[in-house]
Parts: sequence; structure tokens; C-alpha cells
Amino acid sequence: MSGERQLTCREVVEIVTDYLEGAMTSMERARFEEHLSACDGCANYLRQMRETIRLTGMLEEDQIPQEQKRELLMAFRGWRRD
Ligand SMILES: [Zn+2]
Repeated sequence: MSGERQLTCREVVEIVTDYLEGAMTSMERARFEEHLSACDGCANYLRQMRETIRLTGMLEEDQIPQEQKRELLMAFRGWRRD
């Protein structure tokens, strides 16, 4: 274990609302952004979330369709071959 561990795509998807709500510590946010800078899938996901919020003017966990969330997680799993 090396102190600072990388976030997984799954974790990013789960905490994206915290990020958008500003409910993270600066350290958590740094890790989150570090993952995004290296992961197109999550960067895309965040962009979609932002667009949704812009259109609806609000942010609720329920607004992420469960099915879409599951598809994303499946896709992420496919990319990770470690
Ligand atoms: Zn990712």
C-alpha cells in the first residue's frame, strides 16, 4: 500500500455528485481531478453530469438513471484489465 491510492472509475462515478456539490476536501478533489485528467470515460461522465445540471438547474442523485450508471460501470470494467 502506498499511502495515496488511485481512485477507480467506479469510485469516481459514485462520488461525482460530491464533487459537483463541492462536498469534497481539497485533497479528495485533487485525486478526483487527477483521475479525470487520465480517464476519458470519467471526464465524459462528468461533462454529462454538468450538462444535466445546467439543463435542470439542480442536482439529485436520482437524476442519474440507474441503467445508465450500470452501463458506465460495465464499460469501465471492460477497460480495466489489471
Ligand atoms: Zn475513470
